[in-house]
Amino acid sequence: MLCDNVIYFDCRNSAIHDKEMNTLKDNYQTLFKWRSKLGLNEWSIYLELISPHQVKYNVDVPNEDRYFIGIEIRPRNKIGVIYHDVDLYEQAIVHELLHVKYFGKGEDWINEKTKELLKQ
Ligand SMILES: [Zn+2]
Repeated sequence: MLCDNVIYFDCRNSAIHDKEMNTLKDNYQTLFKWRSKLGLNEWSIYLELISPHQVKYNVDVPNEDRYFIGIEIRPRNKIGVIYHDVDLYEQAIVHELLHVKYFGKGEDWINEKTKELLKQ
């Protein structure tokens, strides 16, 4: 039996921030809106709140950078899980979905593309 390939992106060092914090319902609405816009409707994407204690940081990481947002992607089963230990917001959700759509691309490229899409 073939194993499912898992691609994992750790986005904690990306410039992800936004003033608007959302509720979980808002987050799923935003997620569904962008999943559709990006043509990813055949994907199942889940949001998973994790405890900050589950994330290890190097001692040199300043406190304000000690948050985690990342995505685990299972292309074979078309599943994505967005892990986060801070509130989510549109910019972060779009960023993570772009990892699904363009999983060969690096953080800088994804950041640029996120900005571009949100400007429209
Ligand atoms: Zn990222």
